[in-house]
Amino acid sequence: MRRDKSFAVSEQTSADRTNHKANIFARLDRQQTTIVSPGTTHIAHDKDYSDAKATFQDEGLTLEDLLRNNRQWASSQVRNDPEYFTRLVDIQRPKLLWIGCSDSRVPANEILGLAPGEVFVHRNIANVVTHSDLNAHSVIQYSVEVLKVRHVIVTGHYNCGGVKAAMTNQPFGLIDWWLHNIKDVYEDQKQTLDALPEMKDKQNKLCELNVVQSVINVAKSSTVQKAWAAGQEVSVVGWCYRLDDGLIKDLGVSISSPDDLDAVYKVLSGTQ
Ligand code: ZN
Repeated sequence: MRRDKSFAVSEQTSADRTNHKANIFARLDRQQTTIVSPGTTHIAHDKDYSDAKATFQDEGLTLEDLLRNNRQWASSQVRNDPEYFTRLVDIQRPKLLWIGCSDSRVPANEILGLAPGEVFVHRNIANVVTHSDLNAHSVIQYSVEVLKVRHVIVTGHYNCGGVKAAMTNQPFGLIDWWLHNIKDVYEDQKQTLDALPEMKDKQNKLCELNVVQSVINVAKSSTVQKAWAAGQEVSVVGWCYRLDDGLIKDLGVSISSPDDLDAVYKVLSGTQ
């Protein structure tokens, strides 16, 4: 009997969940957002965020403000360059894949001085590339095989919160699984890191070493190795960005052929 009741509760919950999801999608239908050309001054949204209490306390910005900003930005782009969106709408041909940290202070396009359409971007906490991350490897595959990017740039940044967190013994919950990847880099490079007297220096060196590990992992990927085997030119490089002056340091770790990898990782050129 107890089991039946449990099932009933479970079914009810599932039905509620289905209705809840349907309601959210229905809300989108009712919204009837009208998008007109960015060249005109008015884009109508009948969605009202005023009761959502979704204000950004620090800046006093609301979600409505963000949508207004967007309309102003779109208009100014067209004013400066009438063909701006026309050029971007059908095709993207970036020659760079940027793999960076999710940190809000390190926006790829901005710090490279590039416009939308010029850099394909993947970001996660502390710019980690593992061998089992389907998200990262899907991005790498698409950008290398389809977009034919010429460079994969792994860019870390000094004073990275993810790297600093990985250097503590403090538990943070789910993210600990992710941070373990950085702890593994620490373990591998312990001698180098422990030789540095200051904690800040250790943290910043681990930021660099973590980038290098990701560079190696991208280069070891079957996608990049297949590209090299087919004669496609792809280099994988490592950079580190300084938050205090906005400058990027080239870590000098460019891998552009299987010769730069240990034999065990040369999947396609090995004797099989
Ligand atoms: Zn970071």
